[in-house]
Amino acid sequence: MSNTLLKVAGLKKSFEIPSGMFRKKKMLKAVHDVSFEIPEGKTFSLVGESGCGKSTTGRLISRLLSPSEGEIWIDGEEVSKRKEAQLKAMRKKVQMIFQDPYASLNPRMKVRDIVAEPLVIHANLSKEERNKQVSEILEVVGLSNYHADRYAHEFSGGQRQRIGIARALIMKPRLIIADEPVSALDVSIQSQILNLLKDLQVEYNLTYLFISHDLSVVEHISDHIGVMYLGTIVESGPQEVIFSDPKHPYTKALLSSIPIPDPRLRRERIILQGDIPSPVNPPTGCKFHTRCPVAMDICKVTEPKVKKGAEADHFVACHLVE
Ligand code: SF4
Repeated sequence: MSNTLLKVAGLKKSFEIPSGMFRKKKMLKAVHDVSFEIPEGKTFSLVGESGCGKSTTGRLISRLLSPSEGEIWIDGEEVSKRKEAQLKAMRKKVQMIFQDPYASLNPRMKVRDIVAEPLVIHANLSKEERNKQVSEILEVVGLSNYHADRYAHEFSGGQRQRIGIARALIMKPRLIIADEPVSALDVSIQSQILNLLKDLQVEYNLTYLFISHDLSVVEHISDHIGVMYLGTIVESGPQEVIFSDPKHPYTKALLSSIPIPDPRLRRERIILQGDIPSPVNPPTGCKFHTRCPVAMDICKVTEPKVKKGAEADHFVACHLVE
């Protein structure tokens, strides 16, 4: 049985923001009571529309943000309350891959310096040793030493994301948080990058927290999926259960929007009405009731409890689920 590499329990993050004509302070609940675990070497994907809190969850776990409440256990150590000076060891174990490979790489730096940056911060190595490690990691991600003395703007989107992956890998991390790592790329390049991430996971026993707005992107990379809506996980379960037998109406709506490649087959599309409500003033009861196609009276007043589904490790927060 594999060890739990990441455990998140009751994670919450609120931001104080000015609101209305008199700029009165209000609380924006970006992440509300999020809990999940990832066994070592596995992939957990957080999926939901933009603004649902999935990227904030990733930034809390990487401690780019400090949580308001809750626990974050990484490789057996609780890191949620650590001050910046105490986070150095944890930062070596956790690396991020960002969405936009155009924005996340410094255009004034050569690839060699971009990839070596974490080594400069965290490792006491000679320049020769750093260069050697950069050359090795560039080969691992499908680039070569030839690319090391070029600038990031000379590369295509897919190559830039390979540079971002090389920078994340060079510290030999245990956990990689990949925040929409392929959503800025063409579909053909997306599958190359996803295959690369899968190969690297096997080779280095990496654990992934994969964040995406698109369920079709996470289908083949995930072991477990959590579907987020307005700051909370409304359904979570093994990948095959979420795709074959989803229970939450929001998950069903997200799945219905995935195109089927066979033109002879059709899937009934569930169109959600309206926008995602403001997390400053979320709906009462079930937060999804304002858009749910099967909402009942109880949904407007009573928040559904998280219940266990029929399959192991499957959980749903919906009044329709017994
Ligand atoms: Fe829809 Fe009600 Fe279930 Fe919420 S609790 S998802 S509103 S049926």
